[in-house]
Amino acid sequence: MKGSRILIVEDEPALLRGLTDTFTAKGCEVLSAADGERGLELALSAQPDLILLDIMLPKVNGYEICRAVREHSLDVPIIMLTARGQEEDIVLGLNLGADDYVTKPFKIRELVARVNAFLRRRHSARDAACRFGEFELNLAAHKLFRGGAEVELTAKEFQLLAYLAARPGRALARNDILNAVWGSSVFVTPRSIDRCVTTLRAKIEPDPHSPKYIQTIRDIGYRFEPE
Ligand code: CA
Repeated sequence: MKGSRILIVEDEPALLRGLTDTFTAKGCEVLSAADGERGLELALSAQPDLILLDIMLPKVNGYEICRAVREHSLDVPIIMLTARGQEEDIVLGLNLGADDYVTKPFKIRELVARVNAFLRRRHSARDAACRFGEFELNLAAHKLFRGGAEVELTAKEFQLLAYLAARPGRALARNDILNAVWGSSVFVTPRSIDRCVTTLRAKIEPDPHSPKYIQTIRDIGYRFEPE
């Protein structure tokens, strides 16, 4: 985390100050913006390693910032700072390119841990995409191995797992998974994902009823945790 450049876009002065102090104390270089216009400018020009992004902002809102960052093909992790009980807003933000969210009021320690995980993975993204636990996902061969032995997956289970494993630690909305893995097929519903997740869990989870790798995020979707 030390030496990382973090952009914080938040219009609530006390929260912006608190976050700035916290991450500065961790040795980060903190860039801050109290409105969306300034935030967008810094997001596109300052090459941050991670962005903490409030959604309701003066001038330009957080959604527009997400969209603009991804339109510029920047892959910087974006963590949204959202209000409680706004699942639809969270899903919209994830659809527009945010990676994760924390709900206000959040525990600063939890946010720091989340930020740390994203920064760490950014350094080892390639490795993390192919290995988790005792598993190795061979993307070229479309095969999954556990300790060298092949685990039989259906084509959809493989595609789903590859999609999840390439996005470790991120909150993934059902719709985004559906579009990426099932495409525009007419006969799929969000329940198709749930069924595929269930069969996949049965093959990879030590305890499918208390999943370690493919975690459910209530009302939102799923999160893949490789560690
Ligand atoms: Ca706000």
